[in-house]
Amino acid sequence: MQKLKKHLKMYVNRSLNLASIKSIGFDMDHTLVLYNRENFEALAFHETVKKFVAHGYPEELLKLKFDPNFVIRGLLVDRERGNLLKVDAHKYVKKAFHGHRRLDKQERYELYNAKSFKADDFLTVDTFFALSETQLFIELVDTMRRHPGLIQKTYSEVYRDLREWIDLSHQDGSIKNQVLAEPEKYIDRDKHLVETLVKLIDGGKKLFLLTNSDWPYTNSVMSYILNDMHSDFPKWQDYFEHIIVSAGKPNFFTGSNPFYEVVTDKEGLLRLHRGPLVPKKVYHGGNAILFERLTQQKGDQILYCGDHIYGDIQRSKELFNWRTLLVVQELEEELVKLERLQPEFERIMDAIHREEELQDEAQALRSEIGTLQRRLNMPGSDKQKEQKQSGKLKEYLEQLARKEQQIEEQHRLIKELIDHREKAIHPNWGELMRTSLERSRFAKQIEAYACLYTSRVTNLRNYSFSQKFRSYRDMMPHDM
Ligand SMILES: [Mg+2]
Repeated sequence: MQKLKKHLKMYVNRSLNLASIKSIGFDMDHTLVLYNRENFEALAFHETVKKFVAHGYPEELLKLKFDPNFVIRGLLVDRERGNLLKVDAHKYVKKAFHGHRRLDKQERYELYNAKSFKADDFLTVDTFFALSETQLFIELVDTMRRHPGLIQKTYSEVYRDLREWIDLSHQDGSIKNQVLAEPEKYIDRDKHLVETLVKLIDGGKKLFLLTNSDWPYTNSVMSYILNDMHSDFPKWQDYFEHIIVSAGKPNFFTGSNPFYEVVTDKEGLLRLHRGPLVPKKVYHGGNAILFERLTQQKGDQILYCGDHIYGDIQRSKELFNWRTLLVVQELEEELVKLERLQPEFERIMDAIHREEELQDEAQALRSEIGTLQRRLNMPGSDKQKEQKQSGKLKEYLEQLARKEQQIEEQHRLIKELIDHREKAIHPNWGELMRTSLERSRFAKQIEAYACLYTSRVTNLRNYSFSQKFRSYRDMMPHDM
């Protein structure tokens, strides 16, 4: 097989043999259905701003601009202070913004790093839906920062309003109706989707759809991406053995809701369902215990693909031992950048190695100096010897001063190289999965909960349906 480009690959945290997977489930939004992020998030942003103004916030807010690149997933939102944080795997706040203003090291230290950090005090930006919400919060905070007194509320109160009105925009049709009216503007068709699904079906896998979206919306967008694309599967439902809408994940994995059958296509009328799930019928709600029982499946024979680390991945894996595939769409662009920046990464590693050598050399000098100073302090040594030792000591001290200066310069160089590389990846936040060279909190969560991760679900087509995905994560530092 030709070597796959990085953005087309699957990445493995926990080994998985696709041959032992009998059924593959998919989340819908941002997993099977990819949105044009710029148009879709801008829509959520502006619809919510309209609700702010309608509820008495100043009209100036209508001028706020949506910036699709300011916020990335994995950040934490400090609602109380109006700050946005990037935290490493050791809970250290490495980067932070108050509105558009970057917090310096001292501010980060005083607010966060000087005390024990409780990530639970903050909100995580972990879905694509949260990107526009967070972006709007940042714009509101920035407006309050630049125009004190314009909005007479605390940051937390503003956030509470935001939460309510963005949810309302999703529920009252302000967003969905526009998506459905112009799907070509808001939905990106993945040209490999049909090929991927057919390949999995031909490989003997049973597919299911498990989405939180309601029936009318699911039916419309799935029709848009899959109807009339393949002669064997004229309707989108033909690809899936089971279809579950309004699943209410993550509660689907913790609750005990019954399944309802969706009995009318158009209005989505419901009837309480009993007995096994009938293939090709559409069900609403339900729960994972019942799903496994009614479809006679075992957790580890199911691979579930989703883009939300909590809603889709964490609970399904922890509570039901479903195998998991996380879609990290951002990696598509980032992996291309990382490949291009590989020489810079190697330069950083070389520079770090050189700094370590200098540190070792400085340490050797310090110990020589210590020995000489001890000898010179001993009483009764002869003058000539003493003079020689003093000369040597002076020489070593000068060498050490030069070495320490070199270390400082090397340290500066490393910092510059890291900053340069990070800015080339993302001007505010750097790499999605790293802060400087440390793993980010987001990376740590992905490692903990996703058996596999990849930039698009259609990357599955690049592998055989009996592929053994092997993890090398069990290597210990002393194995390297
Ligand atoms: Mg989703």
